Amino acid sequence: MNSKEFRNRGKEMVDYIAEYMETVGERRVTPNVEPGYLKDLLPLEAPVKGESWDDIMEDVETKIMPGVTHWQHPRFHAYFPSGNSFPSILGDMLSDGLGSIGFSWAASPACTELETIVLDWFGKMIGLPQDFLAYGKNSKGGGVIQSSASECVLVAMLAARAQMIKQLKTVHPFVEDGVLLSKLIAYCSKEAHSCVEKAAMISFVKLRILDPDEELSLRGSTLQQAMDEDRAMGLVPFFVSCTIGTTSCCSFDNLAEVGPIAKEAGIWMHVDGAYAGNAMICPEFQYLIKGIEHAMSFNTNPNKWLLTNFDISTMWVRDRFKLTQAMVVDPLYLQHTHSDNSIDYRHWGIPLSRRFRALKLWFVIRNYGIEGLQNYIRNHCRLAKRFSEHVQNDSRFEVCNIVRMGLVCFRLKGLNERNKKLLTNINASGKLHMVPASIHGKYVIRFCVVAQDASESDIDYAWDVVTDFATELLEAEKL
Ligand code: PLP
Repeated sequence: MNSKEFRNRGKEMVDYIAEYMETVGERRVTPNVEPGYLKDLLPLEAPVKGESWDDIMEDVETKIMPGVTHWQHPRFHAYFPSGNSFPSILGDMLSDGLGSIGFSWAASPACTELETIVLDWFGKMIGLPQDFLAYGKNSKGGGVIQSSASECVLVAMLAARAQMIKQLKTVHPFVEDGVLLSKLIAYCSKEAHSCVEKAAMISFVKLRILDPDEELSLRGSTLQQAMDEDRAMGLVPFFVSCTIGTTSCCSFDNLAEVGPIAKEAGIWMHVDGAYAGNAMICPEFQYLIKGIEHAMSFNTNPNKWLLTNFDISTMWVRDRFKLTQAMVVDPLYLQHTHSDNSIDYRHWGIPLSRRFRALKLWFVIRNYGIEGLQNYIRNHCRLAKRFSEHVQNDSRFEVCNIVRMGLVCFRLKGLNERNKKLLTNINASGKLHMVPASIHGKYVIRFCVVAQDASESDIDYAWDVVTDFATELLEAEKL
């Protein structure tokens, strides 16, 4: 494809995407296909000769689209939102066009510097303490873009592990690293995302999964007791991962309690706010991160709830040197003359190569403004409250979580089996898409407000679908 054809095809693609976004609601939200559907439609060998663009796009609409789950669909209420917006798409388009790789300052200075500035903007919007900002007074902190929340948690754990081994080495200089490693123990709540468990597996450390309280919040005394017990067994606590906005039910760990205990114990507290962290741009929610001043690191995903396309998971650290100490390798070909007075993001994470992802977040923040983004978050929270009121007003149902953000967990009163059937029937109809979770051993249905411009009528429609299927199910049970 030459640049002349690219101009035409590119414009056609923008039209295709705009048309898709405008009409996505007319499609079925989930595909009606079986595993292996695509191998019956596409050749299993790559073409030897190039094919025409028209033929390729024809296959997109007839073969690929039937297998797509439409995450931007107004009837999609599963998981958490997948951030998307026109300014963000344009940002990614520009990043792809530039095709530069910003692993060091010298490799593409604007890529590095925009990332630092935008992360400072966003950190201030969230209300993070000055220490987490790169341009804060005497700050050692700063922000970085990672690909996913899982990566942020892993990187934080690796940094904490390196710090603790270094500290232990000062007391036990002749003990093998492997022996010290076998003593390390990390903590999280039962409600933490499974990525914490994965990070512990990769880091080769023990993980103790703690019981949260009735409101599914990890409490300080629980952590304290666990650390006391583990220390008595000769183990060395080094890391705790707290969550603000857990995946199952959007509960919040008690940072104000856990924070001071973690600090006092000299362990690294990471705070995972993959979804709900974004909502902290609204001052009325900032009480939920009280205690963040004790954290060593924090992450949230604009690619979930800030209108920015995957991948962009933003992470801040209080002390960037503690992070980079765990990651630095320095072959000659990557060194440059400004290494001492610039940031090289290759030392802040696992991959060497990095796309220019700051562009899309910069576009989104500038184009919506803080107010526009706050309105978006507040609209989702308001609509979730509306859905939960519908649930509460129907005595056949119960709400199972504290509804603060855009997630409502609900169920039909009665057995889990009944709720499994309800959800299966609704999903099979293609009228709505939701996923389940388990809260206090009960099977619940998660209803998340997802669509960018979600409205009251979308919520009322969803509730009508739920109640229609519930009535049908309860009637059938009587037969
Ligand atoms: N942490 C929380 C609280 C989440 O809800 C999720 C995913 O939903 C993750 C981590 C994992 O996110 P990622 O897919 O970016 O690794």
